Amino acid sequence: MYDFIIIGGGILGMSTAMQLIRAYPDHKMLVVEKEQALARHQSGHNSGVIHAGVYYKPGSLKARFCLEGNRATKAFCDEHGIRYEARGKLLVATSDLEMQRMQALWERTKANGLERYWLNADELREREPNITGVGAIFVPSSGIVDFAEVTRAMAREFERLGGEIRLSTQVTRIEERPHEVVVKTRQDELTTHYLVSCAGLMADRIVRMLGKDPGFTICPFRGEYYALPEKHNRIVNHLIYPIPDPGMPFLGVHLTPMINGSVTVGPNAVLALKREGYRKIDISLPDMARMFLYPGVLKALSANMRPGMAELRNTLSKKRYLAEVRKYCPSLTVDDLGPYPAGVRAQAVSRDGRLIEDFLFVNSRRTVNVCNAPSPAATSALPIGAHIVAKVKEQVEG
Ligand SMILES: Cc1cc2nc3c(=O)[nH]c(=O)nc-3n(C[C@H](O)[C@H](O)[C@H](O)COP(=O)(O)OP(=O)(O)OC[C@H]3O[C@@H](n4cnc5c(N)ncnc54)[C@H](O)[C@@H]3O)c2cc1C
Repeated sequence: MYDFIIIGGGILGMSTAMQLIRAYPDHKMLVVEKEQALARHQSGHNSGVIHAGVYYKPGSLKARFCLEGNRATKAFCDEHGIRYEARGKLLVATSDLEMQRMQALWERTKANGLERYWLNADELREREPNITGVGAIFVPSSGIVDFAEVTRAMAREFERLGGEIRLSTQVTRIEERPHEVVVKTRQDELTTHYLVSCAGLMADRIVRMLGKDPGFTICPFRGEYYALPEKHNRIVNHLIYPIPDPGMPFLGVHLTPMINGSVTVGPNAVLALKREGYRKIDISLPDMARMFLYPGVLKALSANMRPGMAELRNTLSKKRYLAEVRKYCPSLTVDDLGPYPAGVRAQAVSRDGRLIEDFLFVNSRRTVNVCNAPSPAATSALPIGAHIVAKVKEQVEG
C-alpha cells in the first residue's frame, strides 16, 4: 500500500513528486510512467523557454505561476547545476496594427508585474542587427533551458529522498474507494491512500477512469519546428517573438536560441489527428472519432476557423511558414529551414466549445488531477507542484 501514487513522468509529475516527498518524508511514494523514459512527451518536446509571464490574464493562475515559476526554475537550476541562460525576449512589432497590439501587451506586462522596456526601431536594431521592426518590448527575465534535464533532476531528487519510479507502467483503470484508491496498470494492481495525476495529453482519460465526467476533452495541437543551420547560431542574441494576434490562441512562430547553441523557428499549432502523434502522417481513428464526437470540439474549431486554416496552410507550405518569420527576420531563406522534431500540446476544450485558457485541476476526495497545463506549464512546474501539494494536504488533514 502506497501513501501517494503520481501518474506521469513529465515535469509536472516529477515536480509534484519531489515536493510531496519533501512535505511527507516518511511516506511511501510511487511515480508511474507509461513510457520507457521520463519527459518523453510535452516536457521533452517544447521550445525550452523559461517564460516571463507576458501574455496571461492578470490574476489568472498562469500569470501568477509563470512569474513565480520563472524565478523558481532559475533557482532550481542554480541549485542542481543545470545550465540555463537569461537571454531576455523581444516582442517585435512589424506594422502599425502590431504597434497598437504592442501597446495592449505593454499594459498587460505592467499588470503582470514584469520588468520591461519599450524599444524604438533604432534601439531594436542596435540589440538585434538581423531583426527588422517598428518597435519592440524587451523583457529581460525570459530564459532558455532544457526542461527534460530539469525533469530528470527532479526525479533524481525524488529518488534520493526515497521515492520510487516505475517506467513502462501504464495505468489502465482506477477505482476510488472510501479509504483507498486502486490503480490498475498493465502489469499489476496497486493501492494508495491518495492519487495525483499529471497525465498531459491523457489528462481527460484519467478523470474518466475515476468515473467522473471531466467536462472537457483534450485536443492535441502539433507544434512543428525547423532548425536553422549552424552558420546562423548567432543570428539573434535574444528570443524573438512576434506580437500575437489576439484572435490566435497560440503565440506565433518565434525564433528561439536553444540551450545547445542551435536556433529553432516555430512552433506553429496544427490540430493533430492522433494524441502523441508527432508526424504529419500520424492518424488514430479512435482518437479522431472521440475528438470530433465530443460536443465542444466542432464548435471550438469553427470559432477558430481563420487561424486554423492559416496554420494548416503553413504546415503544408514551407514558403508560407517562412513568410511568418521573414516579417521580422528578412534574411532567412527556405534553404535555412532544416528538420527538427515536433511537439504536441495538450489543450483542453470545454463541452461548450471554449479552448480553456487557464491551468485547470479536477479534484475528488482522494485524488488531484491536472487537467489543463499547456504552456507556460513547464516554466510553472514548481509552483504548480506546490499548489498540488497544498491541495493534497487539505485532503490528508481535512
Ligand atoms: C510545442 C510545445 C512548445 C512548448 N513550449 C514551452 C515553453 O517554451 N515553455 C514552457 O513553459 N512550456 C512550453 N510548453 C508546454 C510544456 O511543455 C507543458 O505544459 C509541460 O511539459 C506539461 O508537463 P506535463 O508533465 O503535464 O505533461 P507531459 O510532459 O506530457 O507528461 C505527461 C506524462 O504522463 C504520462 N502518462 C499519460 N497517461 C498515462 C498513463 N495512463 N499511465 C502512465 N503514464 C501516463 C505520459 O506518458 C507523459 O510522460 C510547450 C509545449 C509544446 C508541446
